[in-house]
Amino acid sequence: MNTRKPTLDSARLDKVVAQARRDAEQREQGYRERALKMYPWICGRCAREFTRANVQELTVHHRNHDHDYNPPDGSNWELLCVYCHDNEHQRQLEAARGTGSASVSGGGGATQSPFADLKALLEKKRLED
Ligand SMILES: [Zn+2]
Ligand SMILES: [Zn+2]
Repeated sequence: MNTRKPTLDSARLDKVVAQARRDAEQREQGYRERALKMYPWICGRCAREFTRANVQELTVHHRNHDHDYNPPDGSNWELLCVYCHDNEHQRQLEAARGTGSASVSGGGGATQSPFADLKALLEKKRLED
């Protein structure tokens, strides 16, 4: 007598999901490691240098913003510190929006702190992107 519900399907699904997640993590780990091996540990924007002690603040940026495009020659990667990386993406966002917010007529909007946005961005997404 088999009174148990067949859990095979959900178990298999769990496995598939776990495997897919592991694959994605490994792929990310893979390109990060390869990029760090390929390039000197220097931010491509502010030229800040990194060591083993703080290399986690150095991120791998995808030049074409496509995370799945990882050619083996590293041509789509750029090492950026977290600050410059956020900057880069923020600029991209603003460009995508059509710079509409930049041309608000009249004064009064000049007191906005750029660091407030940066902090929010940092909290939203950490090292990888
Ligand atoms: Zn930098
Ligand atoms: Zn990036």
